[in-house]
Amino acid sequence: MYSANCPSCGAQVSFRSAASVMAVCEYCRSTLVKEAGSVRDIGKMAECLEDYSPLRIGVSGNYDKRRFTLVGRIQLRYDAGFWNEWYVLFDDGSAGWLSDASGQYVFTLPAGRVENAPPFGQLRPGMRYTRDNVVWHASDVRSAACTGGSGELPFPVGAGWEAKVADFRSGERFLTLDYSDSAVPDLYLGQAVELDQLQCQLLRSDDEIAEGAGRYRGKTQALECPNCGGSLSYQVGQACHLLCPSCHAEVDASEDRAVVLAKHDEVETLNTTLALGDNGKISGTAWKVIGLMKCRETDSGETSEWVEYLLFNARLGFGWLVESSEGWERIAVLNRWPEVPSESAVRLGGKTYTQLYRYGSEVIYAAGAFNWRVSLGDRVMITDFRGPDGKLSAEHSANEITWSHAQPVPAQQVAEWFGKKSKVAAPARSDTATDYSLKGPAWVFTLLMLLLNVPLSLFSGVAGLIIIVFALLFLWVPVLVVKHLSGKR
Ligand SMILES: [Zn+2]
Ligand SMILES: [Zn+2]
Repeated sequence: MYSANCPSCGAQVSFRSAASVMAVCEYCRSTLVKEAGSVRDIGKMAECLEDYSPLRIGVSGNYDKRRFTLVGRIQLRYDAGFWNEWYVLFDDGSAGWLSDASGQYVFTLPAGRVENAPPFGQLRPGMRYTRDNVVWHASDVRSAACTGGSGELPFPVGAGWEAKVADFRSGERFLTLDYSDSAVPDLYLGQAVELDQLQCQLLRSDDEIAEGAGRYRGKTQALECPNCGGSLSYQVGQACHLLCPSCHAEVDASEDRAVVLAKHDEVETLNTTLALGDNGKISGTAWKVIGLMKCRETDSGETSEWVEYLLFNARLGFGWLVESSEGWERIAVLNRWPEVPSESAVRLGGKTYTQLYRYGSEVIYAAGAFNWRVSLGDRVMITDFRGPDGKLSAEHSANEITWSHAQPVPAQQVAEWFGKKSKVAAPARSDTATDYSLKGPAWVFTLLMLLLNVPLSLFSGVAGLIIIVFALLFLWVPVLVVKHLSGKR
């Protein structure tokens, strides 16, 4: 361990990792760069934004049977939010990174440089990248600015430092190409992890977080809309991007003062089956409806619309319910990606899912609190795959791809969860409704036509039979097309 006195305030600053080239003075926040036996002050480092993370410098744990300690942290902001990168020092002197994006954790270890990687500007989410016979898919490609830091770090970071990273997935494995320092990217390999499996010590407790920040992580907090004065509520540290249900202003409540990000003129009220603030109990766990958005299909002549409800539980985080003409579905975002052996099928947990639909979706209404920046007009491409236990969906935006698993839920069940027996009705339009409305009459006409025409056609020969066959095609093709289309959400 190397230590020196801060040239600015005189406090002792230590470098626990031999690979660290800079450290932030704990007392005066000077950024100190290690240079040939001394340290040079390159200016003050901004504080990290309080994000109520249980992690902090000094936390130790186990990864891959090795003991580690968190020794540094940088916070990175992009247009839709921010995340933390914790610099990890292992007991054997090697280093790695633990990224923490609103409670989603990924551990990665450095694995050298990649000479033949595609240029950063050419990378797009969904692109394939093959390395050592493993096929990877780009999940996330973005630039982000460093907005704060603390502890020690392996490269000099100051205000305005820009990270350029592309993340790739293969099942639960994770690969990052980091172009921040050069066009020849640094390679990192690792996997998505749950905090529990790292057996961490010295995590911040709920009380310690509240002591530092004045509020508990995940607590419902109310504020007045800075635009219209209406009442808004959000989840401290976890869902701070708000869309005012009264005036539609977009409000950022992640910092001490709520800031209006955008205003929208048109105000309509949307009556939804579940409302903001509704409480439900699903398998013994309490969930609250904190956000809702209505989406519409954008491609083809389709006019499908559906409502997505964002549910929140302080311990478990987020969940989704979707209400469409097909009925209700419960959605879980996947941390482990399916394998993609072909364009038309994917595999997950030994099950095969075949491609069903591919369509665009646009947000046409949103209100409440979200864990990312939602805006009216946000567009994504969705590809649905049907499998034995529901549907897998890939949601593709300009910067990232997310995978989720949807399981159908009877409307009756949703009504019981949220105590809304009278309001949650059966879906307005569904496969069974189509069966009754069109297929029934179609069969009656078919029987009548056969009864009346077959005896006649015996006299008119083959031509008569051909006319009957065409007549039946005219009858059945529209019926079956309607049935097929109504299968979409
Ligand atoms: Zn100092
Ligand atoms: Zn408002």
